Amino acid sequence: MLDKTLFERINDREIPADIVYEDEVCFAIKDINPQAPIHILLIPKKPIKKLSECDEVDKDILAHLFITVGKIAEKLGIPDNFRVNINNGKEAGQEVFHLHIHILGGRKFSWPPG
Ligand code: AMP
Repeated sequence: MLDKTLFERINDREIPADIVYEDEVCFAIKDINPQAPIHILLIPKKPIKKLSECDEVDKDILAHLFITVGKIAEKLGIPDNFRVNINNGKEAGQEVFHLHIHILGGRKFSWPPG
């Protein structure tokens, strides 16, 4: 299908990726262009375009994603110090229009972000 998102194609194993976690709702891959020693993308299998398009019907998915962040951080050895980031919209830096949570760790982070 031509209109699949990049992340749907990864989930369907049409494009290779380093998958570090998967369950029935979501999966996580290593970012191809890491911005920290650990840089994971946690992605719902439902191709929601962006956070601002989420609706009441998505609340279980969103809750599941945020609970899973902690599990992945623990699995990757960064249970207490990590940053999560969601880029919502082009101006905010979103490039892939399939909701994803960046999980970054393994270094110190500054604030404000760029
Ligand atoms: P965003 O800018 O928030 O939409 O984030 C998209 C992220 O996807 C970027 O950090 C990219 O480095 C990452 N990315 C793009 N293509 C791939 C890929 N094939 N495998 C893994 N990560 C990717």
